[in-house]
Amino acid sequence: MAIRTLRIEGDPILNKTTKEVKEITPRILELIEDMADTMYENQGVGIAAPQVGVLRQLFLVDIGEGLKVFINPVMEETEGEQTGDEGCLSLPGKVGTVKRPQKIKIKAFDINMEPFETEAEDFFARAICHEYDHLQGILYSSKAEGGVRDIPYEDEEEEE
Ligand code: ZN
Repeated sequence: MAIRTLRIEGDPILNKTTKEVKEITPRILELIEDMADTMYENQGVGIAAPQVGVLRQLFLVDIGEGLKVFINPVMEETEGEQTGDEGCLSLPGKVGTVKRPQKIKIKAFDINMEPFETEAEDFFARAICHEYDHLQGILYSSKAEGGVRDIPYEDEEEEE
């Protein structure tokens, strides 16, 4: 288990595009494991390789239904529209309202380099689109309507 240092908005690596993963090497497996550890440690629902400083086409998503690994993903179809709040491990303490497709179809390779295709809707589609953007060097803050805002501090009331 290894937690990697998260790159934070302003770090130029987050605005770079990524290269294909050519093969699953021990180094790539270690990266995937570390990315999962880093995501869970920070209570994220997704993480992309550039967020730990690696410019590879790879991201993980877990919206509470198990860890899913997407290698060399290609978005095939998008449909409809949804508007909702999202956050990002690279913008701690922030949230923004972003328009995303309601439904998507994406193909990618799994951890054994086997191709697969997934259809996703609602929050799962949102999470995938967010991570997919990271691989193109795009942060959600550039798409957020009205920009990002601080997450309101909610603990105070609960303690009273
Ligand atoms: Zn993010």
